[in-house]
Amino acid sequence: MRVLLVEDEEGLVLTLTDRLKSEGFEVVSATDGKSGFELAQSEHFDLFILDVMLPKKNGYDICRDLRQKGIATPVLMLTAKGETIDKVLGLKLGADDYLTKPFEMIELVARVEALLRRSPVQQTDGSGVDSFRFGEVSIDFKRAEVIKSHQPVELSAMEFRLLQFLIENRGSVHSRDHLLDAVWGYDAMPSTRTVDVHIAWLRQKLEDNPKHPAFIQTVHGMGYKFAA
Ligand code: CA
Repeated sequence: MRVLLVEDEEGLVLTLTDRLKSEGFEVVSATDGKSGFELAQSEHFDLFILDVMLPKKNGYDICRDLRQKGIATPVLMLTAKGETIDKVLGLKLGADDYLTKPFEMIELVARVEALLRRSPVQQTDGSGVDSFRFGEVSIDFKRAEVIKSHQPVELSAMEFRLLQFLIENRGSVHSRDHLLDAVWGYDAMPSTRTVDVHIAWLRQKLEDNPKHPAFIQTVHGMGYKFAA
């Protein structure tokens, strides 16, 4: 998944880029509002992280102009301390969430993953569901919540999207390549091993017996399917 970061503090650009890359995101950055806005319009991104105070075009103006152009990609705004009064304005202009500087990286990653969980998986067969139950697990897709045996289960954004895709297309077999395209999106990490790792994590978190999964099944030589 691709993130556009528009931020003029170079140190923060480096730190954020490193951290998001280590979480598996592809990161493109711009250090002024004008070039950030141009990038945001001309390429596909799954999320925008916009600093408010930027040279040439501020974060509010970028957000407003993107929304006016019908670009609905989630926006996380970064504000400096003392700018809290502007939050209402930003939300009116179409921002989805805020983070006040200075923040912990783990907080940023959590917000990013929450926003991405809320945005719909593309390429499904159209049979989207709001909630789903299997075994001891229940999933609320709108709230991006997963419960197993009455306990909340923490899934990363990618795990959640993969699970949602498998469930929405349950019964069908999906090759690793197809899952990479459908869940990670284009320019995804190249390795189909990524899919295997996420499948293993999902089984670990959701299956009663991860070594003999009842739901998230391997179809040998073909890929994976969610047992219908
Ligand atoms: Ca700034």
